[in-house]
Amino acid sequence: MAEDVFSLDGGCTCRALRYRVTSKPLFVHCCHCTWCQRETGSAFALNAMIEAERVVLLSGEMDVVHTPTNSGKGQKITRCPQCRIAVWSNYSGAGDAIRFLRVGTLDQAFRLPPDIHIFTSTKQPWLMLPTGVPVMSEYYDRNVHWPQESLERRAALLAAK
Ligand SMILES: [Zn+2]
Ligand SMILES: [Zn+2]
Repeated sequence: MAEDVFSLDGGCTCRALRYRVTSKPLFVHCCHCTWCQRETGSAFALNAMIEAERVVLLSGEMDVVHTPTNSGKGQKITRCPQCRIAVWSNYSGAGDAIRFLRVGTLDQAFRLPPDIHIFTSTKQPWLMLPTGVPVMSEYYDRNVHWPQESLERRAALLAAK
């Protein structure tokens, strides 16, 4: 399928760091684990998984901070060096090839709603989830839930490594 004209801009709070997403993401996680709750200071994290080369830095610099994770393998959080807002993470699994973009940093975050809710065993009890989106108490099987196009994009990425 040909790439459409999909494009979304986003950035940090002081606006020094700006980026552009050049295609739709692979998949969007809404993660309700306690680590995401702590890191966001909120009830969940909303992360769009996307190939690193499809996130273009328009301005500013990236400050990469190594941060612990529940798995013990750690993540690299990319932040604006001035205001310290986090814009995306890279985890050990997919490495630098796939960014977990923080959807709330997009100018039009409403355009990337969750494709799945994960780790809902620790979801805040007051939060009601919508019907029509898969809800997983822990993690999930990518081959069951991802669109075929996203699976193919991921396979291409891993083959190119
Ligand atoms: Zn900033
Ligand atoms: Zn999480």
